[in-house]
Amino acid sequence: MRRKLVAGNWKMNKSFAEAEDLLNELYDALESKTSSNVDVVVCPPSIYLEMAVDFSETGIISVGAQDVSKYENGAYTGEISAQMLNSMQVEYCIVGHSERRKYHNETDADIAQKTNILLKHEITPIVCCGEVLDERESNNHFNVVKKQISDSLFHLDPLDFAKVIIAYEPVWAIGTGHTATPEQAQEMHAFIRQTVEEKYGKEIAKKLPILYGGSCNAKNAHDLFTQPDVDGGLIGGASLVAQDFVTIANAF
Ligand code: PEP
Repeated sequence: MRRKLVAGNWKMNKSFAEAEDLLNELYDALESKTSSNVDVVVCPPSIYLEMAVDFSETGIISVGAQDVSKYENGAYTGEISAQMLNSMQVEYCIVGHSERRKYHNETDADIAQKTNILLKHEITPIVCCGEVLDERESNNHFNVVKKQISDSLFHLDPLDFAKVIIAYEPVWAIGTGHTATPEQAQEMHAFIRQTVEEKYGKEIAKKLPILYGGSCNAKNAHDLFTQPDVDGGLIGGASLVAQDFVTIANAF
């Protein structure tokens, strides 16, 4: 059986006190949740990682960062290294989010470097891919996603690739309320798994967790997560409300 995972991307939201409240609420709600075969990850702004790691010591949640520097260390003002994240017991890191691609000009080559450095420091990369609306409307979405994952991940050897999580996040669905239908999500997830199988073989493809992201919420999560190739979600807006996030984590 494939690993199930729900990761909350808080983006640039919450004051210190609000972040603490949200972690407390999540802790209380998740403590009583029954399903233990779902990994629940919170990805707060980096300034709150230490606080989140303290909560993660309970074993109820794991902690992820939202980004990492592609460099090892040195004169890169404002950046946070994979080594620093590892030394803080951060276990996951989102890479290649469409907002990083759009506002910070992040390329597949950058994402490849970030993935390498995370793997080197034993942090699980959650690598995002996904087409913009024009690309879907011109029926180019499969090519776009194939190129993104090939250019950012297919340099990895099979052992390293097996440590990666992919998140399919159609850009037109992120923060818009226009969720992909379960059929659209399943179609793309199956395509990604097939593409991975062609490169790395059936065993690795079968085990690869592929998350869906893009206006996933407490109401639609179950229909998405019960698709055969959807192994969980990368959740933005709905991860900021504890009860919604916990409902999503229980939506398998
Ligand atoms: C995201 O930013 O990764 C995301 C999926 O956002 P939202 O759930 O708000 O669409």
